[in-house]
Amino acid sequence: MVIKNNIVKFRDAAAATGARLIAVSKTHSTGKILEAYDAGQRIFGENKVQELMEKQPQLPADIQWHLLGHLQRNKVKYIAPFISLIHSVDSLRLLEEIDKQAERNQRTIDCLLQVYVAREETKFGLSPEELMDLIQSEPFKSLQHVRITGLMGIATLTDREDQIRQEFRSLKVLFEKMKAMKPQGPLHLQELSMGMSADFPIALEEGSTLIRIGTAIFGNRNYPAV
Ligand SMILES: *Cc1c(COP(=O)(O)O)cnc(C)c1O
Repeated sequence: MVIKNNIVKFRDAAAATGARLIAVSKTHSTGKILEAYDAGQRIFGENKVQELMEKQPQLPADIQWHLLGHLQRNKVKYIAPFISLIHSVDSLRLLEEIDKQAERNQRTIDCLLQVYVAREETKFGLSPEELMDLIQSEPFKSLQHVRITGLMGIATLTDREDQIRQEFRSLKVLFEKMKAMKPQGPLHLQELSMGMSADFPIALEEGSTLIRIGTAIFGNRNYPAV
């Protein structure tokens, strides 16, 4: 009951600004996912390929699976047949592998480019300069089986609202700049994936089109002890 109510609550919050809800189900059981599904939720996000591969065949085929976590090139082949959107693309090499596996599966795979906007150090994501280089590079322009539908960013984990807002705003500015450039290549810019349980209201105010909510829907995650 709690999960169903949460789905309705966050779906409505997202819809109020024209955004959509991704229910982030990582570490949570297929039973809990089905509860959310029964409330009408169809987009679910996972951050590990292994876990996604275990869950996907056990759950309804009309679920749209989004990958949120870092993706290694050697694992693309496992998700290529069914993945709906990959949020975490941070290199041309990864994109080329996704393109190759998409072709093998005779489909086009939608991807977001993950941009590093937080002030904290992180290993993942492109800097704004790297992003601009990537989308203007020749190999990028010739990709045929991927489509870049937008950008994804993760704000700093802080209670300083002004800082979080600034980070989301910088992603939005970058997004608008990219659109204005009208670059050639496989771009169809429409999505800004930003906002999680702790900061989604700010993200929606700053133009998010996809909020990624885990804890606030499903409760705390219990990570395995190892
Ligand atoms: C886990 C995760 C989320 C959801 O985080 P919550 O704080 O539980 O809402 C969102 N985005 C990414 C990339 C994640 O890994």
